[in-house]
Amino acid sequence: MKKKVLILSVGGTIASVKTENGFKPGLTAESLIEHIPQLEKIANIDARDIKSIPIIDSSNMQPEYWAAMARDVFEALPNYEGIVITHGTDTLAYTSSMLSFMLQGLSKPIIITGAMKSIVEPGTDAKRNLIGSVSFACEDNGGIYVVFNDKIMKGCRVCKMKSQKFDAFCSVNCQDVGCINSDGGVSYNTNTQKMVSPEETTLDDKLDPNIFLLKLIPGTHPEVIDKLLELGYKGIIIESFGCGGVPFIGRNLLPGIKKLIERGVAVVIASQVIYDGVNLTRYEVGRRALDLGVIPTYDMTKEATVTKLMWVLGHTNDLNEVKKMMLTNYCGELSVS
Ligand code: ASP
Repeated sequence: MKKKVLILSVGGTIASVKTENGFKPGLTAESLIEHIPQLEKIANIDARDIKSIPIIDSSNMQPEYWAAMARDVFEALPNYEGIVITHGTDTLAYTSSMLSFMLQGLSKPIIITGAMKSIVEPGTDAKRNLIGSVSFACEDNGGIYVVFNDKIMKGCRVCKMKSQKFDAFCSVNCQDVGCINSDGGVSYNTNTQKMVSPEETTLDDKLDPNIFLLKLIPGTHPEVIDKLLELGYKGIIIESFGCGGVPFIGRNLLPGIKKLIERGVAVVIASQVIYDGVNLTRYEVGRRALDLGVIPTYDMTKEATVTKLMWVLGHTNDLNEVKKMMLTNYCGELSVS
């Protein structure tokens, strides 16, 4: 028997039309699926636009929209075997990460997908991505996933690596879950375990968007950190170099970081390097920061780090608790303890 799958549209290139001002979302979820009659052979499909938020180019994504999306998915879940969200690719990895924190204990698949070319453009990848997503939505495999260009990836591990090619997304510091075969079937990678949570699915949509990400360059002026303190951020992610080194010679950033932590701001150290992650104990430039009480991201992606920090700060401002939660693995986003 065919399973019941809901397609929710949030906008993005996949649902875009050409205008005088360039591509912008203009197709409804219903008209999206009219372009792919094959979908009805795979599953019984319902399609609608997401509730309570505008249909957007995903560069316009706002943290509060994630909470609305999580609520919509949570409420729809009992009526479907799987849900596919069609989304712009620019901030898709942030959304898939945030939904991984907000919706836990899933026993059904929630898939986020999109396309690099609109469904109405010749040579579009939208059909392939939607067919693959609906096929995976029929699997008994709970969790938040991204299906794109035939790859199946964990939502909390995905990064956009290419701005124009079809193969735009990669799993970072984690293998892909599997792939969509040419006949539309699903193949799992060895070591991948299907997840059917014995627990109840929980919706936890609290978040605090009051965070900042500071990307360091050689020569970053320490005054920038004082200005961030004045702006009242609750959490600051410092995207530093290599394993996580913070400069202390010349323009010394350590006194500013110390002041931030003393004033109760959570300071998280991430790396500009995409793969492998942060190791603050290896070098003096890392250890000096660690001694001040910064929180390392280890092997989390930047998108998982940003969304996790917002989500954690939605629960507590106590720095010990923030650290404990940031270093807890909730959904497979963190594998180094
Ligand atoms: N700007 C578009 C968006 O993120 C890009 C895309 O969907 O590929 O909404």
